[in-house]
Formats: sequence, C-alpha cells, structure tokens
Amino acid sequence: MYLTFKYNYAIIYRCSNINIFVIFLSKNILNNAKLAASRQNGEKRMSKLGKIKLPHRKHTADMTASQMPTPTVITLPMSQYIGAPAIPVVKVNDKVCVGTKVAEADGKVSAPIHSPVSGTVKKIGDFLLANGKTCQAITIESDGEMTVDPGITPPVVTNAEELCQAIRESGLVGLGGAGFPTANKLENAISKNIDTIIINGAECEPYITVDNRTMIDAANHVARGVKVIEEYIPGPQQIIVAIEKNKPEAIKKMTEVFAGDPKVKVVALPSEYPQGAEKTLVYTLLGRIIPDGQLPSDVGCVMFNVTSVAFMADYLETGRPYIWRHVTVDGSAVKSPKNVYVPVGASIRDILTFCEADFDDLGKVLYGGPMMGIAAYDLDAPIYKNTNALLALNVKDSLPKTQYPCIHCGKCIAHCPMGLNPTAFVKAMKIEDKNERAAMLESENVLSCIDCGSCSYVCPSRRPLVENNKLAKNDLRATQASKKN
Ligand code: SF4
Ligand code: SF4
Repeated sequence: MYLTFKYNYAIIYRCSNINIFVIFLSKNILNNAKLAASRQNGEKRMSKLGKIKLPHRKHTADMTASQMPTPTVITLPMSQYIGAPAIPVVKVNDKVCVGTKVAEADGKVSAPIHSPVSGTVKKIGDFLLANGKTCQAITIESDGEMTVDPGITPPVVTNAEELCQAIRESGLVGLGGAGFPTANKLENAISKNIDTIIINGAECEPYITVDNRTMIDAANHVARGVKVIEEYIPGPQQIIVAIEKNKPEAIKKMTEVFAGDPKVKVVALPSEYPQGAEKTLVYTLLGRIIPDGQLPSDVGCVMFNVTSVAFMADYLETGRPYIWRHVTVDGSAVKSPKNVYVPVGASIRDILTFCEADFDDLGKVLYGGPMMGIAAYDLDAPIYKNTNALLALNVKDSLPKTQYPCIHCGKCIAHCPMGLNPTAFVKAMKIEDKNERAAMLESENVLSCIDCGSCSYVCPSRRPLVENNKLAKNDLRATQASKKN
C-alpha cells in the first residue's frame, strides 16, 4: 500500500479499485497545479528548491593526484569556456615552451590559452567540440623537454585592477563547471555592490573529488587565495567557504586554515544535489534568489570555485599560467580510478591509458560526472580547462535503458531545483510553428534550466528529459537570434 501511495503510477497496475485510483491521481494533479502556479514568479519558483539524494561514489576521495607522463600530442580548442573563442597567435611550425601564450583572448569575456608542453605547433584547424559546436584548435607536438618559457615571472600586483589583469593573463576560468573567465568575476566583485564572497567547495556530483583534494592537499593555497581576495577586494563583509558534509577532512582542513580570520566562515552543507549549483548555493547560504538571466553579483555576492582560488595563489607566486589541472578519472571501465594531474589538451585516450581503462569493454566516456557530464565523441579528443572528471563506463553500463510513456506523476517538476516543468518543454517541442514553440518555451522559462539532470534521474519512466531540455534551449536561442538578425 505504501508503494501505491508514494508512486501513484503504480496504482494503475496494482489497484483494482478504480475509485481509489481517481482519488490519488486527482491529488497529484492538484499538487502539480500548485507547482505550475508557483512557476509564474521566480521568487516562488526558488522557494520550492527541489533537491535529490544521490549515491556519492567518491572512490577517489582519499587519493592525492598522480602526475601522468607528458603526452606526445596536445590539442587546444580555442573555445574552452563561456565567452568568445580565443584567437591563435602562433603559426604552424612555431616553437613553443611550457606556458607560452598560443592564443589571445577575444574581447572582455574570453580567456587566453597557453601551451602546457614545449614543442612545435603542428596544426591549426577546425575542431568539433563535445557540445557539437565548432571552433579552431591548435595541435602541439611535445619535444618531451618541458622547457619553461623564459618570460614566465610572477605578475606585479599592487591593486585590484592589476589583480584582475593578472588573472585575465593567467587564462583562468571557473574550474567547477561552466568555465566563466575568473577575471570577469573579480571585476564584478570590485565594481558591484557585493557583501558576500562564496568559495564553492560543495562538489555535489557523484565520483568527482578534485575540489575535495584541493581543500586537503592545497589548503594553504586556498587560504592564500582567499587572503588575496580579502586584500584587494575589501568591500565584502563576509567570505563563506561552502562544503558538503560528505567531505569531513576538507571541512576540518578549511576550518583549521581559516581559524584566525573572523571574516571567513566555513559552512558544512547537507549532501544534496545540486547543492553546488550557483543559484542553489546562493539561495541555501543567503536566502537570495538570482532572477532569470542575472548573475550572483546582481544579488550582492560573487562565487569562486575553491580550486580556482587555490590556483590564483599559485599563479601570483609563480606566474605559471593555467596549463595543467587535476581530473578525477573513474567509472566501471577504469581499473585504477585516480585523481590525475594532466596537461590541458591531453587526449582522453592518453589519460585513460594512464588509469588502466579496459578499452575492450569501453562503452562511453563522459566529460564530468554522471548527472551533468557530456559524452565524448572521440577518444582522441582533448580535455578542456574546465574538465574536472572523466567517467569511463563499460559497455553494460552504457547501454540505453528502456523508456516508457510519461505517467504524469509530477516527480520531475517536484524535484527540479529551478521549479521548472520539463514535461512542458516536451510538449512545446512538439509544436511545429517555431514562433509558437518559442513562445511556450519562453513562458515556461526553459532558459533557467541548469542541465542538472535531476528530472531525468527521478523519472520512473526514464524519459530523456534533460536531453530534451538542451534541445529546447538551443531551439529557443536560435529563434531569438533569427528575430534579432
Ligand atoms: S535539468 Fe533543468 S528542468 Fe531538469 S531538474 Fe535540472 S534545472 Fe530542472
Ligand atoms: S516525465 Fe517522468 S517524472 Fe515527469 S511526469 Fe512524466 S513520468 Fe513523471
């Protein structure tokens, strides 16, 4: 009886009394109607704040990173972050060193790209990104020498503007997800009316343990990075280091290193998904709602990923730009899950070889975790600046699961952290007229979807909801762009 009450779809199969079925289904429709009404207002949408419990599977939480051997070939796509693709400033056959700038930022929201190895530029050509878009990419053949560019020296920073300029030159982008250039966030923290800086160490996706290890292995770098922020951006009254409770060692380390700083508060958060998503975390910590299309800085706060903060400290001391990174490598096809220190642009194949993946039983590789990861289309494709994990699944785990028709249970709506209705996006995408389709997608706020995957995860019919959400967002953006032109 409990099951039939909890999952009303089961009633269809289990309950012979049609009257009871009607009563329970009506209750569900009423709940969904309330949720739908609350979606009319962004504030009410967030007040729902759906979250889910996930198995953590943080197998590598206790593993410090091992460094992989330098690969022979590096591929550097010009688009590795949110913003305009970088522009190559090298030519084929040019010699480069470790840290040589090979591409310049194109405009304000962009980031330069540097070589992680010494060697020769072999090719500059078109490249297909994992998200289906194309850009240029620079291919570098390593000479194995790892000769460091003689021009690399620590930047001179005496004020906030110089700090922003230095971090812009470092090529740093947000390392926890979308990859927004960090210099732009720093500028927001300086120019807007900010009272709180959030250091995001939530790391809520299963498997990934990169930020956890940063807080344990590079706790002093995190502390120095926070000090830099405090020194050059004195406006904010508080700095919150937010960590999920499933990282007790990281919480302990952070509490220790910030013990003498009254401005810094270390907050242990419940282990719920998507706790680390920007909008969710701001709401959880401060009770503030980021309106659709706006940034945390519009509600008085700025958020930095904890590993980005640790890098800032390292860069200011060494001048070494963002060229190598830590990646969690795990999944059922990996014999030896690890945290690995790898050059940006190393191929998935080289990294998986280092982690003893079973290539004969490899079904799928994801950039990122199981909830938000994007499938790689080629083992020779590179990792990007913001790739924090590679999840390699065996053939069995990669097989598509049987899908069933929607049973209107409303679980996808109830668990959406943004209070959206993914079934409405499905309905909208069936509309033939593109303007009518766009109007419905707009009214249902599809662009507020953060691709967290919770709706697909909770769907008992295994509907491909998050895939449809992505298609719907692309479709709406294309229609909006065609109206502007
Ligand atoms: S993927 Fe989008 S629609 Fe689905 S739960 Fe997450 S935010 Fe909501
Ligand atoms: S899409 Fe899935 S979760 Fe959403 S209402 Fe239908 S069956 Fe339920």
